[in-house]
Amino acid sequence: PVARRLWQRHAAGSVRGVSGVIVGGGVTGCAMLYNLAQRGVKCVLFEKGELTCGATWHAAGLVTRFHGGNNFRLWHDEGVNLFTQWQNEEGTPLSFHTPGSIRLIPNEQSYIDEARYQVGKAKIFSGLFGCAEHHLISPDEIKEKHPLVNLDDSGIYAGIFTEGDGHIDPSSVTNAFADRAKGLGGIIEQKTEVVALNLLPSKQWEVITRTAAGEEKRTVADFVINAAGLWCDKVGAMAGVRVPSVVLQHQYCITESIPEVKEYHDKHGHQLPVLRDLKGSFYVRDERDGILLGPYEYSEAMQLAPAEWRQTGMPNEYSNFLFEGDVERLMPHLERAMEILPQFGEVGMKTVLNGPTMWPADGNHLVGPAPEWDVAPNFWLACAESYGIAHSAGLSRYLAEWIAHGEPPYELKEADPARYGAWATKDWVATKVRETYGMNNHVHFPNENLLGARPVEPIPNKDIYDVLKSQGCQFGFHNGWECANYFDPASGGEQLGNARGSFRRPPYKDLVEKECREMAGFGGICYWPFAKYHVSGPGAVEFMDRLVPNRLPKVGRCALSYFLTPQGKIGSEVMLVRLAEEKFYVVSYPEQELFDWRWMHMNKPDEGVEIDNVTADFGTLMVSGPESRRVLGQLDGDEANWSKDPDVR
Ligand SMILES: Cc1cc2nc3c(=O)[nH]c(=O)nc-3n(C[C@H](O)[C@H](O)[C@H](O)COP(=O)(O)OP(=O)(O)OC[C@H]3O[C@@H](n4cnc5c(N)ncnc54)[C@H](O)[C@@H]3O)c2cc1C
Repeated sequence: PVARRLWQRHAAGSVRGVSGVIVGGGVTGCAMLYNLAQRGVKCVLFEKGELTCGATWHAAGLVTRFHGGNNFRLWHDEGVNLFTQWQNEEGTPLSFHTPGSIRLIPNEQSYIDEARYQVGKAKIFSGLFGCAEHHLISPDEIKEKHPLVNLDDSGIYAGIFTEGDGHIDPSSVTNAFADRAKGLGGIIEQKTEVVALNLLPSKQWEVITRTAAGEEKRTVADFVINAAGLWCDKVGAMAGVRVPSVVLQHQYCITESIPEVKEYHDKHGHQLPVLRDLKGSFYVRDERDGILLGPYEYSEAMQLAPAEWRQTGMPNEYSNFLFEGDVERLMPHLERAMEILPQFGEVGMKTVLNGPTMWPADGNHLVGPAPEWDVAPNFWLACAESYGIAHSAGLSRYLAEWIAHGEPPYELKEADPARYGAWATKDWVATKVRETYGMNNHVHFPNENLLGARPVEPIPNKDIYDVLKSQGCQFGFHNGWECANYFDPASGGEQLGNARGSFRRPPYKDLVEKECREMAGFGGICYWPFAKYHVSGPGAVEFMDRLVPNRLPKVGRCALSYFLTPQGKIGSEVMLVRLAEEKFYVVSYPEQELFDWRWMHMNKPDEGVEIDNVTADFGTLMVSGPESRRVLGQLDGDEANWSKDPDVR
């Protein structure tokens, strides 16, 4: 937990001390300032331009209760609930329209399966966490709620209706966070750019800022939050922290006034529900008496920012920047829109807006402590927010609680920057973002297996990869490594990925069943990418004893152990091998590599403990089944000993 230090002015007058510095005054930074101020953590927010001048001002402002994932739902619900409360109960003018939303489900089995799965999951989350339920509604009910839609020949099976959500004005909500934060003692300095971040021996950060007038200042902070949005990679680089994300172009267009839309508003006193057409890959909401339509362009058509920005970052002076609108690229989406909303084609287009926004490879944000905690302690990321308006409330409470109390309120590893290792280069992210963004409205199967940007080049352990592939291995992706999912000799090694995705029994079920049966007789699993570390030194025993709840194994023995969080939750499951009195070999799941690395460094004493990441130095072969001892004995050359002594480890 951070020290809740009060604002100090040092004797020299040129340095000031705060608990935290937030870099960036978009919706994310302002929401962070508010949530930390609420918890009594004194922070200053520096904004190089004016609030909202990055990606925030031009957002379409959609805020929905729907999310296909798990705990991300909590963020979505939290946003809708907070904004409703602020607007309705506290009278904050937010331009928050809440006509509800309808996802249009195509009449195809996988979409229908997914819709039922999502509605079912929403029910569970409603029971467990009080999230709003979703409702599957018929085409007639869709038409009742949105009289402008024409569903004849549209191939629409049903809709998922979510109540009470809609869209909000991004600037109003950012300013609402900012004003509330200031009311609680948070400080905002605009036209003040953070130009350098220096780590002090005290593990505090010296933050150098420069105002538009050229005045430089030093601020010393216990922690820094990178909420620099479109420029978050540049701010990360100042601290030696990678922020694997790229800027992409997202467009929407706004029509002239549509008489039927106006008529609806006059009659009902509120807007039409927001529509999301999965088949046409676009969203539609009312904008005054016209329509705003935003497509998720398909992978082949969508455009990223200029490739050189991956090296240089987006130029700092590009505040309130827009790309040139490109209506040609939108045509496939607009044509579909004219089918289901004929009025859309009958009026002129007022605006085509093409805005920059920052995305990580999977579109899921980078929120949490820097994975490079060994070189950048007390540096936090609230970056690459692809749906920053919708997530602002949930994200900021989640991260503020983590900073203030030492652990997050709930598990959300899919947002954590530690899921990307050094293999996630900017070019890799760019290829992956093209795939992810283009698939925004596709079906997302359980165990989704997307093939874009795979395998990572150069292929780690290429020799093993080639052997497995020649046996028809179908790979899954784990932290930069290709791991065997199952073998299909008939595939000839061609990767089938999501082509075999399903909500039902997948087509590879029989192959997996056969493998399981054979494993029951004897099996060896080659699982080389386990994360591995050596932990050694005079302080290693005390350090390990503090990290895990079980008794430490004796020398030459191993023990399955858990890294527990301060609240006693399981942070990680590791195999702890004691190689010598003061040396441990720690083996963990592939995806845990940087999570565990960071956790150990967050808890490590300054002296007496060495931690080496040896993941790439060793392989791991799991040998299991009734014949495993015999096989290990053969390898060991002491078969008799292995088969007799059950205690041999
Ligand atoms: C066309 C379009 C439509 C969108 N529609 C939606 C939508 O409907 N719903 C939704 O949820 N999201 C939407 N988004 C995404 C949304 O805009 C972003 O997720 C959100 O604005 C990100 O906010 P942020 O605060 O993280 O970043 P930003 O808004 O980019 O803010 C970062 C701030 O940091 C400042 N900064 C950077 N470097 C420094 C420095 N060195 N020193 C000081 N300050 C610095 C910048 O000036 C900037 O103001 C849309 C995006 C686009 C492009």
